[in-house]
Amino acid sequence: MHNASTLRIGILDGDDIGHEIVPASVEISRAAAELHGVAIDWRPLPIGRVALDTHGHTLPPETLETLKTLDGWILGPIGHRAYPKVPEAINPHPILRKQFNLFANVRPTRSYPGIGCLHDNVDLVIVRENNEGFQPDRNMFMGSGEFRPTDEVTLSVRVITRTGSRRVARAAFELARQRRKHLTYVHKDTVFKLGCGMFVEECKKLAPEYPDVLVDDVIVDTFAMRLVRDPQTFDVVVTTNMFGDILSDEAAGLVGGLGMAPGLCIGDGDVAMAQATHGSAPDIAGKGIANPYAMMESARMMLDWLGHSRGNEGAVRMAASMSRAITEALGDAAARTGDIRGKGNTATFTAAVLRNLRK
Ligand code: ATP
Repeated sequence: MHNASTLRIGILDGDDIGHEIVPASVEISRAAAELHGVAIDWRPLPIGRVALDTHGHTLPPETLETLKTLDGWILGPIGHRAYPKVPEAINPHPILRKQFNLFANVRPTRSYPGIGCLHDNVDLVIVRENNEGFQPDRNMFMGSGEFRPTDEVTLSVRVITRTGSRRVARAAFELARQRRKHLTYVHKDTVFKLGCGMFVEECKKLAPEYPDVLVDDVIVDTFAMRLVRDPQTFDVVVTTNMFGDILSDEAAGLVGGLGMAPGLCIGDGDVAMAQATHGSAPDIAGKGIANPYAMMESARMMLDWLGHSRGNEGAVRMAASMSRAITEALGDAAARTGDIRGKGNTATFTAAVLRNLRK
């Protein structure tokens, strides 16, 4: 029998550096769980290129079935562009996001001293709509949102719905309420009067329910500029899919690059998926030098989110101690990785986090 207080968490390595940073993230999570007496049933599951070889599919049906029984999972980066061109080698991302209705992609950006950030005191979160917008691999029920009627013409369709806009806006308002109570809507309703217009309308409709949250709206191009000049003026930002994709990478660039860009995919409150913003970085895979911060912090966010949503105080405490241990390890130049001005590698950073946890 499953004990309700036991968290069931999947481990999906993904591809390339996923085989290095996911085990590192699980290792520190296991240690923190042990220290705080949090019961976790870890379930390693096949996915990606390895699963194609071992199970004949990059997203084996048994993986999908097992995910339906879990509280959450850690998903490593997927290197689908290098998959062989066979029908069994699909990109699992859109299926996972759709299947579990993970419509909000929460992407924090935070500066830390000494790691090469372009600004100090940055602490913002971009909440990116995850299931519609311009991304043609996920914005249609069937078929593709991108098509070419003649050799000369290509059309890309952006899908914006009231429901999709409202629910991501609500997730952002809720987050803003837990933080500095400031929410910025980012859009381009000056040009996309209907699409962005609908998105902003739905954001604005929710505002009266959150009188404690200060709101403002900023046109996307202005936001891109202000993000570079004054990132400290933002707290929570909500935006549509493609704007969020681009702006969160820009934000990562301010604080040390993609290794510093964690993410959490959430939906209606049932499950959470820890997924770093970066890709599978095949250029550095197998060298032991990948920065595990983004993946570790994504896992930590998931555990914190599950702790709150399941009323599991141990998990909340565990996530807080992971946060302290990870932050302290970032301050250790000998331990942290080269991309953030360190002299260490994946293993030394992981060891530092473990040491800090056990202090
Ligand atoms: P995708 O489109 O799948 O997100 P991408 O083309 O943006 O992928 P990434 O795989 O994210 O590319 O990586 C871009 C570069 O950033 C890599 O080549 C690598 O040098 C660097 N990088 C990404 N993640 C990390 C990491 N965790 N640690 C160190 N460097 C990283």
